[in-house]
Amino acid sequence: MEFEDGTAIWASSGTVQAPLVESFIMDDQVSEEFHADDADIKVRSSDGVLFKVHQRTVDKYSEGLLGNGVPNSRGEFELKENCETLGLLFQYMYRKRPELSAVPFSTLRSVADAADTYQMYSLSDMCECQMSRHARTYPVDVLAYAAKRSLADLVDEAASRSTGIDAETALTALGQETFIPWVLYRETWNTIIRDVNDPPAVLHKGGMRTCELWHMYYMAVANDLRAFGPGEVQEGGRVFGKYRSSLRSCTHCKLRAENWARAFGSAPGRMPKFSSVVSEMAS
Ligand SMILES: [Zn+2]
Repeated sequence: MEFEDGTAIWASSGTVQAPLVESFIMDDQVSEEFHADDADIKVRSSDGVLFKVHQRTVDKYSEGLLGNGVPNSRGEFELKENCETLGLLFQYMYRKRPELSAVPFSTLRSVADAADTYQMYSLSDMCECQMSRHARTYPVDVLAYAAKRSLADLVDEAASRSTGIDAETALTALGQETFIPWVLYRETWNTIIRDVNDPPAVLHKGGMRTCELWHMYYMAVANDLRAFGPGEVQEGGRVFGKYRSSLRSCTHCKLRAENWARAFGSAPGRMPKFSSVVSEMAS
């Protein structure tokens, strides 16, 4: 049923099959959550699920969902979003606050793109709030999202976790415009890390600059550190402890390792923010 203000309530939830005969003829799968008897609009998801909704509600919460689209011969509007994304869009329109904190990143991104496309502004804001949760796992994708929307804080957070990504993946995700400053940003970090990874020798007994324990330790730590960007030095700092036992009882090498770890920990302070790299390029 539909209320005066265009919202509606539903008798049940989940996904059901249409009645057998119709199902046989149309091979139809209907959204269990959105299948109002008094619906005047039918929307078909890219993966074939039918949503029966109210034009009035759709028009109220979305400027462009139906847009200038023309329904197919069965009177359905065919959209490019899948049923999971459309379900969340309709939850938003029908004031059933969508649980965006529980959805995987790919779904969140799809909802965010759809919210932008269909001009559902407060849903866009809701997606934006959730994006930073994924900056650790999907840094270049979140960076691409944030750069497109000029969200400086999120841009900086995601970029600071993205330097371990290979260039090809970054180019695909970011597009050329953001990729170029990203390359400069990553190169700046790599230069700082090359400097950090050259900790001054600590003289051993007898004036020796090092001992046989250092090389193995150095190679293992330097190799592992490559995965960490300026926003990840806390996680990266654990690498120093992970191999510490290989230095056994050499206090000189251990001191050198501590100096190295300290230099790594302060390296982010030497980095520009990604957003300032972008604005410098633009000026
Ligand atoms: Zn030593």
